[in-house]
Amino acid sequence: MPSDKIIEIKSLTKKFNDFTAVDNLNLNVYKGDIFGFLGPNGAGKSTTIRMILSLITPTDGSIRIFGQSLASHRKEILRNIGAIVEKPDFYLYLTAFKNLELLGRISGVDVSKRRIMEVLEMVNLHERATSKVKTYSYGMKQRLGIAQALIHNPDLIILDEPTNGLDPSGVKEVRDLILSLSRDHKKTIFLSSHILPEVEIVATRMAIINKGRT
Ligand code: ADP
Repeated sequence: MPSDKIIEIKSLTKKFNDFTAVDNLNLNVYKGDIFGFLGPNGAGKSTTIRMILSLITPTDGSIRIFGQSLASHRKEILRNIGAIVEKPDFYLYLTAFKNLELLGRISGVDVSKRRIMEVLEMVNLHERATSKVKTYSYGMKQRLGIAQALIHNPDLIILDEPTNGLDPSGVKEVRDLILSLSRDHKKTIFLSSHILPEVEIVATRMAIINKGRT
């Protein structure tokens, strides 16, 4: 029977010199989860996410994604993940549509006009597709960032602190989007935050990390 584990992390450790940022972490994310990864600032959330995205190498332990080892199947795995790890950067004087077209081209994804409109519709920005990004609210910019992460139709979406810096209406926009990606588009979502109520309200399961440990 094929495993329904989307992410399987075993004994994962990351040291920066003598400092242990992630300490023997174990966690499983299952297909269809909105997995909340909760912990205070400095707990090791971003470091874990950067290892999942293969941006940094673990000191010890293993990561399997879609049932395959990340160490040996990096390329195929990453092709099926969409992520925002930092505040997305856009060309403010270009439209949302043009931004997605350019960013797609830069990252080597073949994006049709139809696909761009599809993802803008998924994040509910299709009616503002031809507005310049400088006219967008923070919440809209964040949703556009998520649109960019969706363009290649990945099964797994990873969002590092997606509501950081947003006002309450922006937080709600992003929260509704996360719920819709799960419910309407059947995406598996891994989401980090330092704010318990924000995670609690959307997550189907969660892990709490503090000082690198769960
Ligand atoms: P979180 O995302 O939970 O806020 P991080 O994973 O960013 O936490 O950081 C965990 C700890 O690891 C922090 O104490 C941070 O200062 C440290 N850290 C992160 N990256 C590095 C690095 N490249 N070099 C040294 N220490 C780091």
